[in-house]
Amino acid sequence: MAPKSADANGVLFESDAATPDLALPNRPIEQADDQPKQLVWRNIILFAYLHLAAIYGGYLFLFSAKWQTDVFAYILYVMSGLGITAGAHRLWAHKSYKAKWPLRLILVMFNTLAFQDSAIDWARDHRMHHKYSETDADPHNATRGFFFSHIGWLLVRKHPELKRKGKGLDISDLYADPILRFQKKYYLLLMSIGCFILPTVIPVYCWGESWINAFFVAALFRYAFILNVTWLVNSAAHKWGDKPYDKNIKPSENISVSIFALGEGFHNYHHTFPWDYKTAELGNNRLNFTTNFINFFAKIGWAYDLKTVSDEIVRNRVKRTGDGSHHLWGWGDKDHSKDEMDAAIRINPKDD
Ligand SMILES: [Zn+2]
Ligand SMILES: [Zn+2]
Repeated sequence: MAPKSADANGVLFESDAATPDLALPNRPIEQADDQPKQLVWRNIILFAYLHLAAIYGGYLFLFSAKWQTDVFAYILYVMSGLGITAGAHRLWAHKSYKAKWPLRLILVMFNTLAFQDSAIDWARDHRMHHKYSETDADPHNATRGFFFSHIGWLLVRKHPELKRKGKGLDISDLYADPILRFQKKYYLLLMSIGCFILPTVIPVYCWGESWINAFFVAALFRYAFILNVTWLVNSAAHKWGDKPYDKNIKPSENISVSIFALGEGFHNYHHTFPWDYKTAELGNNRLNFTTNFINFFAKIGWAYDLKTVSDEIVRNRVKRTGDGSHHLWGWGDKDHSKDEMDAAIRINPKDD
């Protein structure tokens, strides 16, 4: 559990909350000091190459690759996406549910396909992102603008404030998991196999794809696509959208991001109640593939101790800090008034 620090700028776990509707006592700030940006040229060159190669891969995806390769790339996108959303994000960074070892093993394999650093490093950065949101201790501080929060943060050295405050963050629970320790120890080898070698070799040997198509479509195009989708949560979903739960923070409800990011764009809700395994209110499951994935594993018992937030707390928070944009998700929404329900025309009604 993270220590309750007086300088936190966002709740990370439920224990950080100080008000009955689970907020911090202080109003969040936005802050970014001037500091010379020390460019990391290795990353700039690698990301520039990756994106040029991914454009070529996108062309091959549409006009050259076999359909099996395109389907394979799509499946890899969903698998690597879940390795981030259900794995590094909801399970490891937020501890919003628990998973038995077979599910943790599946998630760590999916996570390795995504090549966004080991799950331990990802979860550590992400805890900092929530706890010190929109300040210099947030790795992708959106106060610095869209480009920085999208990719720019990976092209410069980390801010000293992030390193300083990061020392106080408890990540012992992550190191306690032998599966995560194994992934971190052999990360370079496992990532090379999972993200680049297997996605290239499988199409060539299984359905006679060319090396060029396999490498540029299933490896590079797919990798760059899921990277940008993940980054959109940090950039677009910290900039555009409604704020029905807390109007004092940047994160917003962004439906387009949710569609591509397997349900991770309900970002105003998520920063308000980060320990909720759904990262959204009930009713958004249609666009929340990750929640359905976790629900499936909860049914067979591999996912358990799923945390969520009571209707009453959500309603109180919406009233106190929301921007008034809280919409009904449909019939049965807790804010659906009795008058409206009584006035609705119902064809062949049968209450059960
Ligand atoms: Zn965020
Ligand atoms: Zn989060």
